[in-house]
Formats: sequence, structure tokens, C-alpha cells
Amino acid sequence: MRPARALIDLQALRHNYQLAREVSGARALAVIKADAYGHGAVRCAQALQEQADGFAVACIEEALQLREAGIRGPILLLEGFFEADELPLIEQHELWCVVHSMWQLEAIERSAVRGPLTVWLKMDSGMHRVGLHPADYQAAYQRLLASGKVAKIVLMSHFARADELDCPRSDEQLAVFQQARQGIVAEVSLRNSPAVLGWPSVPSDWVRPGIMLYGATPFEQAQAVAARLQPVMTLESKIISVRELPAGEPVGYGARFVSERPTRVGVVAMGYADGYPRHAPTGTPVAVDGQLTRLIGRVSMDMLTVDLTDLPQAGLGSRVELWGKQVLASDVAAQAGSIPYQLFCNLRRAPLLYLGA
Ligand SMILES: *Cc1c(COP(=O)(O)O)cnc(C)c1O
Repeated sequence: MRPARALIDLQALRHNYQLAREVSGARALAVIKADAYGHGAVRCAQALQEQADGFAVACIEEALQLREAGIRGPILLLEGFFEADELPLIEQHELWCVVHSMWQLEAIERSAVRGPLTVWLKMDSGMHRVGLHPADYQAAYQRLLASGKVAKIVLMSHFARADELDCPRSDEQLAVFQQARQGIVAEVSLRNSPAVLGWPSVPSDWVRPGIMLYGATPFEQAQAVAARLQPVMTLESKIISVRELPAGEPVGYGARFVSERPTRVGVVAMGYADGYPRHAPTGTPVAVDGQLTRLIGRVSMDMLTVDLTDLPQAGLGSRVELWGKQVLASDVAAQAGSIPYQLFCNLRRAPLLYLGA
């Protein structure tokens, strides 16, 4: 059997969820869209079911997969419905629904559903992706109430730059939000992971942690609360071949690495077809039998090469951690010009194995 696999530490997932709740003092929807950022949505939801206040996903397909697996309790559709004919299913499965656009509000008004629905009314406070214009927010709120189909409305917005800790944009967005919601008495949800970790003064009744649940930091620089996260995924494989090269020999496609000295090269069963980033350059950290070394040469589809010159004990069959508790996914991502979100979401082929269920 090919040794490439991703171990998923469910105990670490629960630790990170608890941390999100603890540092925010709020209720937390565990964001498990995109198959829990590649970690397996059903297994992650089952692991969190006891403690989680609810879950958030990107679309009704993802929500129904959870319901079919027996996940009860709130599930929020982060982009609401894409077509009005999803409304009866939303009602039937008691899903919570974001309303981010006027067309969605009108669809609810016209629809035959009786509800009562739980709506998270999203404002565009400055990210300029989705959300109602601040000037339309109060009227939309009143129309939703008047529709008679809505039991509860949570006021919601989303930050564009919360991962930049000295950037004033989040405070500006907060000011726009507070100004536009003035006079509405309702619960509020503004914070994703970087805002949970780095913006403690932003008010919230509900937080929406995603990446932090999986133990990766959304920040480029060190941050105190993020340092308490526990990585959930360990992507690992084994050395399947070893060769000794004299100085001056190329390794792999395009000869992107040429040995500067006599070099011991280990070949690892892991490639971009497993989701390891092809753009990770020579020097990207990997751990072999618990010792740090570096990727060398170009990542190919099924294999990559590592430098074993300074690890004489390592060889055929040695365990290689591509990312996990020793090599942080955020560090690999930074080397590859990516973000841990994308590394996790790109994971494929390598089977997921669950620990601490
Ligand atoms: C994906 C998403 C989140 C989670 O973001 P993280 O940065 O992963 O914590 C929160 N809110 C909304 C609206 C989202 O789409």
C-alpha cells in the first residue's frame, strides 16, 4: 500500500474549537465548509457534535450531507440559497440561512415556506464581495420581519483584512456596521478565525472559526493566541528510494536542484496529485524521522525529493512529515506562495485516517 496519508487528530480539533469559544466568550459555529477544509466534514462534525453550538457550510449540498449523517443542531448556509427552490429544503431540514442580497430577500417574501426561518442578515461593511449595502440594511431587516416567515435574525458581516493585525480596516468596517445597525436589537456575528484570534474587542454573540479549528494560523507573523492552536492534520509518507550523488548532479524535472556537495537524496511517495504544492521550492521544510530537513528539486506528481545528507540514520522506509505538528502547514504554504487554507482544501488521493474519535 502506498504510504501517503493524512492523519486527522480529532482531539486537537476539539481543543481548537474550545479555544475559539474561550477566547471569544461567544457561541461558535464551527466552519466545516469544503469538506471541513479537506479534513472530512462528517467526521469532524461528529467529533464536535457534543460541544459545538452549530456548524457552517457553503451550500445546501454540504448541509444535507451532514443531516444525512445524523448531524443535528444548527447548520448555517454561509451564502444562503443559490436558487429559490432550495427554500423548502432549508425549512424541512431546519437550516439557518444567510441573506446577502436583495434577490434572496425577495425570494423569501415570495416563497410559500412558512418557516419560521432563522436568517443571518449579511451587511457589506467594506469587503465588497457579498452583503447588503449599509444604506439598505435597516429596510431589509424590517422587510424580513414583516414577511412573517422569519423567527430570528442575526446581524452579520465579514472582515477583509482581519489577518493584518496593524491594519485599521477592520475597525473601519466595524464602525460602518455599528452605524448601519443602530437601533436594531439583535445578536451579532462578525468574526472569522483571524478576528477571533487577533481582534478581541470586536463585539460578537457568535463567532465563525474556520482555519483555526484545523490548527493553522491565519497570520503571517507569530501571534500569541494562534500559538496555542494544535495542528489537526499530519500529512505523511515514507522514503521509497535513496541515492548518493556527487557534487554537481541535477535532481528531478528541469534540473531545478543541482547538488552543491556530495548529496544523499531521499525519494518520498508524495506529490502534487496528493495536494502537496508543486510550487514549494528547494528549502521548504520537511521532517524525516522527526528531524528537520529540506525539500530539494521540483515536486512531481507522485514523488518528491528531500535532502538526507545530514541525516545518516534516515533511509528507506523512514517516515516523512510534509506538514503537521512539527512542520507547520502555514510555513510550507508561505514557502509555496500559498496559504494553509488552500493546502488543506487541495488534499486528495492520500487517504484520511482519524485519531482520537
Ligand atoms: C469561510 C468563512 C468563515 C471562516 O473563515 P476562517 O478564516 O477560515 O476562520 C467565516 N465566515 C464566513 C462568512 C466564511 O465564508
